[in-house]
Amino acid sequence: MATRTPIVGGNWKMNTTRASAVSLAETVATSCREHTATCDVVIFPPFPYLSAVGEALGDSGVQLGAQDVYHESDGAFTGEVSTAMLRDIGVNAVILGHSERRHVIGEDDALIHRKLLATLEADLLVIFCVGETLEQREAGQTETIVLGQLESGLTDVPASRLVQMVIAYEPVWAIGTGRTASPEDAQAVHACIRTAVASRYDDVTADSLRIQYGGSVKADNASALFAQPDIDGGLIGGASLDGGAFASIVREASRISHGASA
Ligand code: PEP
Repeated sequence: MATRTPIVGGNWKMNTTRASAVSLAETVATSCREHTATCDVVIFPPFPYLSAVGEALGDSGVQLGAQDVYHESDGAFTGEVSTAMLRDIGVNAVILGHSERRHVIGEDDALIHRKLLATLEADLLVIFCVGETLEQREAGQTETIVLGQLESGLTDVPASRLVQMVIAYEPVWAIGTGRTASPEDAQAVHACIRTAVASRYDDVTADSLRIQYGGSVKADNASALFAQPDIDGGLIGGASLDGGAFASIVREASRISHGASA
């Protein structure tokens, strides 16, 4: 089989203004354009700036993503945004199950699963985040938690839909803390996710599935993480707000060549 195309996402969270979002998008477009043939690059600005950022990305090959979506198609859901609305403005990827939505906003597995099915149905790419808290890691529950979240997300998802999914392993204790999982610890969880997908589906599906690492990835630790055989890129928070740092991470990811034939 072919090698997996690496993927790097820039999650801007609730940051930027309209002007700074457009300027950052222009920097990302210019600096990442040359890598988009070998690495999928997606940025996730706040909802109000999606259209302006999409225009700034132009034909650079950098893709536009949303940080969330609602599972209903339309109606009385004040404050929510549908998959059709996102498609309408050129979005092609959505982050779901991010730890801030799970642990700060309070989304549970059932809601995340409904959103995931709706997003797949809309033919959008899903970046599905899983990860344990520090307490859970210290209690030796990392595998149980991560595989439980994975199983919940993949319920009713046929193998044919997995090309539309990327799993982001993001240990909660590493997000925005400056504390990164060691490449070996991250690799162990990534391998465990791939094995679980192989037993749930089959080896070909598991070998093709892209699994990103997220949690304080910076320009200086990206290459060691991406050298691990089951780490197919990164979901980047803080460092994605710095166009130069983000481009360096993308450059590191564009050198990855993982997969069954690698
Ligand atoms: C994230 O928000 O998904 C993330 C990984 O953030 P940071 O890179 O800042 O840890």
